[in-house]
Amino acid sequence: MTEPHALRWNLPSLYASVDDPALPADLAAAIAAAAAFRRDWRGRIDAAAVTAPELAAALERHAGLQLQALRPYLYAQLLFAADGGEPRHARLMAEVREGWQELGEAILFFELELLRLPQEHFARLRGAPELAAYGHYLDTLRAHAPYTLGEDVEQAIKRKDLTGKEAFVQLFDELGASLRYRFRMPGEAEEREVPGEELLALLYHPDRETRERSFATFLETHGAQALVLTACFNNLLLDHSKEADLRGYPDRMTPTCLSSETSPELVERMLAVSEEHYPLARRYFAVKQRLLGYERLKNTDLYAPLAGGERTFTFDQAWALVAEAYAGFHPELAQAVGQLLPAGRLDVAPRPAKSGGAFCMGLYPGADPYVLLNYTGTLRDVTTLAHELGHAAHYVLAGGQNFYHYHPPLPLAETASVFGEMLVTRHLLAREQDRQVRIALLCAKLEEIIATTFRQAMLTRFEQAAHARRDEGLLSADDLCALWLEQNGRLFGDAVEMIPAYRWGWSYISHFIHARFYCFSYVFGELLVLALYRRYLEEGAAFAPRYLDLLRAGGSAPPAQLLRPLGIDLAAPEFWAGGYRLVAEMLDELEGLIGAGC
Ligand SMILES: [Zn+2]
Repeated sequence: MTEPHALRWNLPSLYASVDDPALPADLAAAIAAAAAFRRDWRGRIDAAAVTAPELAAALERHAGLQLQALRPYLYAQLLFAADGGEPRHARLMAEVREGWQELGEAILFFELELLRLPQEHFARLRGAPELAAYGHYLDTLRAHAPYTLGEDVEQAIKRKDLTGKEAFVQLFDELGASLRYRFRMPGEAEEREVPGEELLALLYHPDRETRERSFATFLETHGAQALVLTACFNNLLLDHSKEADLRGYPDRMTPTCLSSETSPELVERMLAVSEEHYPLARRYFAVKQRLLGYERLKNTDLYAPLAGGERTFTFDQAWALVAEAYAGFHPELAQAVGQLLPAGRLDVAPRPAKSGGAFCMGLYPGADPYVLLNYTGTLRDVTTLAHELGHAAHYVLAGGQNFYHYHPPLPLAETASVFGEMLVTRHLLAREQDRQVRIALLCAKLEEIIATTFRQAMLTRFEQAAHARRDEGLLSADDLCALWLEQNGRLFGDAVEMIPAYRWGWSYISHFIHARFYCFSYVFGELLVLALYRRYLEEGAAFAPRYLDLLRAGGSAPPAQLLRPLGIDLAAPEFWAGGYRLVAEMLDELEGLIGAGC
């Protein structure tokens, strides 16, 4: 039996300690290398004379010096995540951040000059065998070329952003952090100040009135700041449309689509198919209502816990479950993550001053990733382990890629993790005899799917509607509330009653502020995994080697190209519907389990 508290990271594989003199030496050497790189190359890339062998050599130096600075940077991040209460860790974080910033400024010219290369010259270089290994990196960078402005304009935009766009983002964040919530926690006699996250966590509380009271408190506290929040939304919407016009983007979503290697047409098709399937979500809400025994389901009941979901697992059990599920898919998937535990790549138990949540940090090609968990033994913790080990397997298998192609492209960033969760959920369902537990397992999976597909499609539709309305003039808080209720109403229909305070639901979602139109990438990621999983069900073992090849490919090609060998055509409308067919099948299974006796 492994004691989870003993499972900590073995960080000396990077540096001996926070005081290791090799760390500042590496950072200083990387900064010096960046300065030398700048001296040697600035003004030479966009001079049309640069040859393919010269550019390949420059790319290799560009990668090498970043790699040198990355080791101290990642080590500091890991130290801080494991113990943020240690002042030396915070100090080191600040130092490496500054160093990384300095390095970034020194080499910024390189990508800007690549962007400014005349198209014919770039096309010639791109076809050269010396640059083949950097192809996807160069292509994704160049996709921004038509919308890049002159260096002086770019500089001016950057400077004005500090007091423009970024100032409103900062204001939103600071306001959010300053909000104080007065609430009487369950089991306590008096009201007291409670952090916002604790109120949101109460959406999973078994008591119905507690769920509604906590969410209403959270939302109404935001509603009281409507003036500032509405100003943030209005200004950021306007800023985005002005910048889109200035750069000549054909669509408001183009910048996000360029980063995620999708297109506005593809996103539109995906959203339309999602909306057509909204009735599937309502079918699930009806099941949940029956299971909870309510007359009517409120939106604060969507995550209410169900009987059977309270089962707990020791970490050894969880580890074995994930290993079995992965090995059942293909032994190589299990092998990819099998050595991570003995190698000290997992930090398992919660501790004071340790970072919350869970993550997997991929370092660089050839180095094993690190996984952070806050394992307490719940069912959710088991699927989180499967999720993070999915990321880890992706990084281990992509270890043969170069620096530029090590990380998966954005639309595939959550493929291995969500696929891993699916494998473990199915594995748990296959061996579980208790009907209640099986129902809880299926419900948990369906709730997660609904939150990452239908809800995110709805959020994207709200964002699109807000942008379109802003073009006509300033939006009032009531306008935003009305748009919000309208989009939610399309999803919920008659199946879910929205509590009155939910009109403020738009006001705290930081994605709208931090990353425009980002929400659709969740829909994309989830539907892709559902479609892949369906292929696996249809093809059985023959599917596994091609899936492993996809993970090995890392970020070396565009998603559409990487997915083609798996029989997936992103342009085909039936691709998106295929994902929802799997949801319908899971619902059939759930309804069958519940039967008429419920
Ligand atoms: Zn993830």
